[in-house]
This record gives sequence, structure tokens and C-alpha cells, in this order.
Amino acid sequence: MGDVLDPRSYAFVNAQTAAAQAERDLFRNIEPTPAAPTPLGMVLRALRTDPPTKAITLHQPWAWALLHAGKDIENRVWWKGFTGELAVHAGKEMDLSAITFFVKWGIPWPDKDALVFGAVIGAVTVTGAHNSAACVRTSTWGHLHPEGPYTCSKWAQGGATGDKPMMHWDITNPRPCTPVPCRGFQKLWNLPTGVVLDFTSK
Ligand SMILES: [Zn+2]
Repeated sequence: MGDVLDPRSYAFVNAQTAAAQAERDLFRNIEPTPAAPTPLGMVLRALRTDPPTKAITLHQPWAWALLHAGKDIENRVWWKGFTGELAVHAGKEMDLSAITFFVKWGIPWPDKDALVFGAVIGAVTVTGAHNSAACVRTSTWGHLHPEGPYTCSKWAQGGATGDKPMMHWDITNPRPCTPVPCRGFQKLWNLPTGVVLDFTSK
């Protein structure tokens, strides 16, 4: 190989050196380009989310709604500052009064087979919580629920227990998993170390 003109320095350099430099330039130009997010990449990112260590037990169909119906607010009269990954445990009881709520908002009532009882059925991310007193109420709820609804979400409800106001927990990133049968508890509880949630089959 003879000498060639280096386009950057305008000096004549060895052709082999120039070819090697050109190859380095090529990869230098490629590597800094950030990869565009792809659906697969987003799925992989979701799967990399830290597994939850805390869990909360809800009656059905509310546990189902968190994972499958876009329920983005959890209504509790307590919140002790918890944020992060939270396993959703479906208790053994059914809250039939939820039917009124589902009908009001046109939310399809889940099939019997879709409801699992007495098992961890997925996880969500709790990003924070706010006092329902800080939410602006609208007037369209009417007679069904005089306490609400709230502008933060159709899932938000009012009410209070004694002097404890309703807190609206902000929920995102629902991830159903293969149900893991186990018993539930009050408040937040620690997932037993042997419970491993498998999000890949859903
Ligand atoms: Zn709210």
C-alpha cells in the first residue's frame, strides 16, 4: 500500500494507517449515538425493575383493577412515606360493593376466571401519595359517592377514618405475574424471601 492523503490533516500517510484510522472513526461515530427506545427495550427495562420486597393485600376486584384496569390511585387513610416497588396480594374476600363503582365508570367487570384469591398477582410502582384534601373535587359523581370524585383520577375516593384523611397513593407500572399463593396481612408487609415473582409469563 502506498501513501494516501489524510482528509483531516491533509498530510500523506500510510494507506494502512489511514484505513485503521477510518475504521476507528467509523466506530467512534456509531458508539455515541444513543439507542432509540424500542418496545423490546422498554419491556426489558421493565423486567429489570428491582423486585418488590413489600406487599399490600387488597380485596378483589381491587387487586385485579390495579394490575389490569388501569387503577392508578390506591385509597388508604394511611401512608407512611412508602415509595417504590410494591407487590399486590389479592385477599380471599370479594368486595361486591365495587360493582357500583365499575358500572358508574363503565369498567368491565372481570371474568370469574380472571380473579385470583389468596395470592400475590403482580407488582406496581408507588411514586408517592397526596392528601385527598388537596385534590379538587368535581361534581359529576353525584349521589353515588358524595365525597368524590377527584380530579387526580376516577379511581380516587374520599372518606376518612376519624381524623385521618384519605390518602391517594399514586400508582404506575402495573406488572401482572404468575400468581404465588400465600396469606395476606394488614398494612404493608414483607414478602417472604422464598417468594419470587415471575413477570415473564404474562
Ligand atoms: Zn388525589
